[in-house]
Amino acid sequence: MNSYKDLQVEGYERVVRCDNTEVGFTAWAAIHDSTLGPALGGCRVWNYESEVKALTDVLRLSKGMTYKNALARLALGGGKSVVRADLKKVDRVKLFEEFGLFIDYLGGIYITAEDVNSTLADMAIIKGKTNYVATVGASGNPSPFTAYGVYCAIKASVSYKLRRQHLEGLTVALQGVGETGGRLAVLLANDGCRIIVADVNEENITMLQDKIAFERVDKDEIYGVECDIFSPCALGGILNEKSIAQLKCSIVAGSANNQLLREEDGESLRQRGILYAPDFAVNAGGVINISCEIGQEYNKDRAMHQTESIGDCLTEIFVLAEKQELSTNRVANQLAEEMIARNKQENEPLLRTA
Ligand code: NAD
Repeated sequence: MNSYKDLQVEGYERVVRCDNTEVGFTAWAAIHDSTLGPALGGCRVWNYESEVKALTDVLRLSKGMTYKNALARLALGGGKSVVRADLKKVDRVKLFEEFGLFIDYLGGIYITAEDVNSTLADMAIIKGKTNYVATVGASGNPSPFTAYGVYCAIKASVSYKLRRQHLEGLTVALQGVGETGGRLAVLLANDGCRIIVADVNEENITMLQDKIAFERVDKDEIYGVECDIFSPCALGGILNEKSIAQLKCSIVAGSANNQLLREEDGESLRQRGILYAPDFAVNAGGVINISCEIGQEYNKDRAMHQTESIGDCLTEIFVLAEKQELSTNRVANQLAEEMIARNKQENEPLLRTA
């Protein structure tokens, strides 16, 4: 049986801990801000080294979702959940059943979805216990939408920085060609881009070789590749003092979460004349797609159309950043904060309904 405990965390609307010793897991749900609507964010399952690490992760991720959902103009707040468990040792069905009860206990202020180590099948189990779960219906795998959103982001970045309306002839260096990077590589290759790839997973490289022609470099060489666009689609924290000094690109735009090691690294990119497309604006395609099945009948064309608005959002960020001589990540944060503040003040739905 689950036991619940509310934790007081400054800056967060609600943080709840759930323990279940019979099944063998502890979970945390963090609702960072629900001004714009119920908090939407995935459920990450990880065998965290410590409780502190799990709690730190859920707090960081839920705050990120507030900014991502606001910038995507969704009527959704930011939240996230993490489950600390060893998936090799627990009964997976029981875990997600009990986790579903936890989500139901929260009463709808938080809507969960798939994330690292949680699958569509797990969401179906949760759905047996609560209605507050997305990615169980028609929207399916969010990755194609995330990849399409990154593609739209690259087009907007190229238009702004290089004053070009097409991608043909441009060189793109991709770090990671998994669920999102692989799909993005195909979209870019179809537009006539030269593709250079680094990945540590041979299976994903082979899968891509069946689809498009590309060059390959070692994982440590990807930063120094001469290219127009560097697209991080693997790991967080990869834009740092060391890597930024190596970059030979005009634009950075990719799917990976938390690409900047520190906020100041956005300023370093600006100083180097590299246009950084903030990750949480770029990779919102997946969450936009999920939002299209919340409280409405899912429509794929609508999801695609809404995903395309990522390009407009980035153009707005680029224009403001240039005008204010600020880094794009700072401007993106400000825009999201302003949207939330305005909504709090006016208390009216100025955003489109998800
Ligand atoms: P994935 O696991 O399918 O793909 C990641 C790829 O990166 C893998 O092929 C992996 O081998 C490769 N990789 C790992 N370490 C590497 C390294 N050092 N150098 C080069 N390649 C390396 O993951 P994904 O779903 O494509 O997600 C990629 C990133 O995008 C993650 O940060 C994820 O959080 C973020 N993201 C994904 C989605 C989505 O819809 N899938 C949505 C938003 C954000």
